[in-house]
Amino acid sequence: MQLRFVGSGDAFGSGGRSNTCFHVKGHEVNFLIDCGASSLPALKRQGIVIEDIDLILITHFHGDHFGGLPFLLLDAQFTRRMRPLVIAGPEGIEMRLATLMEAMFENSSKRRRSFDLGIVALKPETTHSFGAMNVTPFPVVHGDSGGPFLAYRIETEGRIIAYTADTEWTEALIPLGREADLFISEAYFYDKPVKNHLNLKTLEAHLEEIGPKRLMITHMGEDMLGRIDTLAYETASDGLVVEI
Ligand SMILES: [Zn+2]
Ligand SMILES: [Zn+2]
Repeated sequence: MQLRFVGSGDAFGSGGRSNTCFHVKGHEVNFLIDCGASSLPALKRQGIVIEDIDLILITHFHGDHFGGLPFLLLDAQFTRRMRPLVIAGPEGIEMRLATLMEAMFENSSKRRRSFDLGIVALKPETTHSFGAMNVTPFPVVHGDSGGPFLAYRIETEGRIIAYTADTEWTEALIPLGREADLFISEAYFYDKPVKNHLNLKTLEAHLEEIGPKRLMITHMGEDMLGRIDTLAYETASDGLVVEI
């Protein structure tokens, strides 16, 4: 199974990076984690066959994680997608997606589609099954707009992938990432404490408790990108593929 960092950036294009979007492809699964505003061009640039994607997991309703869906859905409609697609995310996703689509392309949420679109609201700390994968969302802490905020622990094909999404430190990250084969964590700053986001030093202080088998850092701001060559951890970059 492989995970591709289609987009590894923050909300503001730091380092010229694309917004968050990860593509996971295995023998039995083909899904995205997040679909930020710039994700459709990034997927196309990297040659991902969008028609083959069965599921899109959304962590929260900020534009750099969620804002690419109207483009992707309209593109699917215009290219006459046939394969069903499921979009799963926090409570309220159906209304938030319709509002977003209407704001960007009026009437687009009401048009008849060539494919079945399922929209699923995920309950925190409950395991949900999608074909050959189980997803357990954990509630995380990321301010007062764009929530609820979920981090995902995904079990599929005998592997565990965990992703913190955007969050400040919360104890939920311990069960989220425990012994994960791949733990993807945001680190927006190096050591500066900021509300709503993690810095690398805070994460580092808890790393032993979490105990992931492999850690990759993503969603880095300019502060982190300026130090990227000196960091002791693996870092994501747009287009990077990791085998899990
Ligand atoms: Zn973000
Ligand atoms: Zn966010």
